[in-house]
Amino acid sequence: AAKTAELIWFNGAMMPWGDAKVHVMSHALHYGTSVFEGIRVYDTHRGPAGFRLTEHVQRLFDSAKIYRMPIPYSFDDVMQACRDATLANSLKSAYIRPLAFYGDVGMGITPPKDAQCDLLVAAFPWGAYLGEDSMDAGVDVAVTSWNRLAPNTIPTGAKAGGNYLSSLQISTEAKRNGFDEGIALDTNGLVSEAAGANIFVIKKNKIYTPPATAAILMGLTRDTIITLARDKGYQVVEEPMSREFLYLADEIFMTGTAAEIVPVRSVDRIEIGSGKRGEITKEIQQSFFGLFNGETEDKWGWLETLES
Ligand code: PMP
Repeated sequence: AAKTAELIWFNGAMMPWGDAKVHVMSHALHYGTSVFEGIRVYDTHRGPAGFRLTEHVQRLFDSAKIYRMPIPYSFDDVMQACRDATLANSLKSAYIRPLAFYGDVGMGITPPKDAQCDLLVAAFPWGAYLGEDSMDAGVDVAVTSWNRLAPNTIPTGAKAGGNYLSSLQISTEAKRNGFDEGIALDTNGLVSEAAGANIFVIKKNKIYTPPATAAILMGLTRDTIITLARDKGYQVVEEPMSREFLYLADEIFMTGTAAEIVPVRSVDRIEIGSGKRGEITKEIQQSFFGLFNGETEDKWGWLETLES
């Protein structure tokens, strides 16, 4: 098995990685009934800190609310489990993965009324999602033949396990065709997001990103970038965008907790701008990563210490 840390928090107890097991008849395995989060811990000038930890845990509870999934732990319990899973593995930087799911509650699609979710919180090391080189060289992406989920089908505003079947199609089709990542259009044919990241476009010094109505997950990194860019004086607009708007961009980058900030150097083999990471993308990367060494002042209280 791909053991990536020593200990894992599962249903209230810290246990060895290999002991955190579920039954093969788990509801989530059959029907995709899980909600989860991805949170990074950075080794900052102020010590290890969970980046926007509280808001990620809030989004976990929000995703569970959308599906009426009862998480049998309080908000504070989940916060503490995130800290504990990191500290128990002596990690200074980490990726935290809390996940609530329906376990062995029977095979009916509607779980029994009294069914509770199981909850795990794993913390493990995870480097740059698309590779260290990609952070300055940029990546080649394709608009895939798969659209994002249609409104009023599976809610893209929830971070649920089942949504990642869409991400899988988007990402694997792009990779099969020799690209690094895929970008999907929504069912209106407008730009949505990448398999597991939001997208930003820069044109004439103005920064654009698709709105909430474009079948996206409202990324916390997306919000971070909007906030940092505005703080630097850039105009940022959330606006529907066409596929060809990507082709004519000066710069494009993708954002996510795992992906961080990845420049895009081509879309459908059309070179973006100079075909290299753009200057504004570089500036935004610097202000983002500057949060973790103190070069960027954390005016927003985004760095949350792990010691409580
Ligand atoms: N969209 C999707 C589909 C994702 O899986 C992610 C990663 N959680 C994002 C966007 C980016 O969200 P965040 O910045 O909060 O990690």
